[in-house]
Amino acid sequence: MFETFLSGKTAIITGSNSGIGLGIAHELARAGASVVLNSFTDRDEDHEIARSLGEKHGVEARYIAADMSKADQCRALIEKAGACDILINNAGVQHVAPISEFPAERWDQIIAINLTSAFHTTAAALPMMRAAGWGRVINIASAHGLTASPYKSAYVAAKHGVVGLTKVTALETAEAPITANAICPGYVLTPLVEAQIPDTMKEYKMEREEVIRNVMLARQPSKDFATVEQMGGTAVFLCSPAADQITGTTISVDGGWTAL
Ligand code: NAD
Repeated sequence: MFETFLSGKTAIITGSNSGIGLGIAHELARAGASVVLNSFTDRDEDHEIARSLGEKHGVEARYIAADMSKADQCRALIEKAGACDILINNAGVQHVAPISEFPAERWDQIIAINLTSAFHTTAAALPMMRAAGWGRVINIASAHGLTASPYKSAYVAAKHGVVGLTKVTALETAEAPITANAICPGYVLTPLVEAQIPDTMKEYKMEREEVIRNVMLARQPSKDFATVEQMGGTAVFLCSPAADQITGTTISVDGGWTAL
């Protein structure tokens, strides 16, 4: 349907050497965009992920290391990329603990990576989008940007913050051909989710399958994980002309979670 309508556009996807970010990078590249992948590591395998993605889709693909917990590195990522028509703020980490036992340094880290990084990258990218006369900011929030769960104080606070930042970005760019929206995934089976399973098994004293169906997917009425390809497809749609007037809103891809 969309073919290669993003040819000539550059997309920067934070936190994209795995999971949802990498899935979105593949779908944007399939639609013709040049992509810049990112994480905080600088390993051969990170650059290899970009090389093979570029080869698969016939687009330019680069990997730029930058730690999204550091303000200067967030801004340097955008500057080093040299162009930013599509910004996907996706980098994220999680920690699960009751508020009174939540380590303060984990709170700070989650707020920095999941929320503050999006402020810095957006601040650096908007002048490039204005100069180019077109832009898309797509923030990967969460069903936890709209609802809450116990033990996820920092994550829920950061994701609600991302939804607020998205609205402000949309209002400040409303008259430019720039849109800003948040995708709110339900549970998508990625390394981030996989890493939560052992802690949740301990917390609820349950086996793996029980945790998946009765805890993780308890609030996902479809009883099915969403996929990284579906996140990528939603991002591609938000970059399409059909979405020119969609701005400042959230799109839930959550199997009905937020309908409950
Ligand atoms: P993931 O762990 O596979 O991906 C997280 C990415 O962030 C990785 O590429 C990781 O290297 C990167 N990252 C971590 N710390 C970083 C840092 N300091 N600097 C730069 N990059 C860093 O997890 P995922 O599930 O693909 O999560 C991607 C995004 O989607 C996150 O923002 C997450 O909150 C959100 N999300 C995920 C789900 C889900 O069910 N998986 C649901 C809702 C929202």
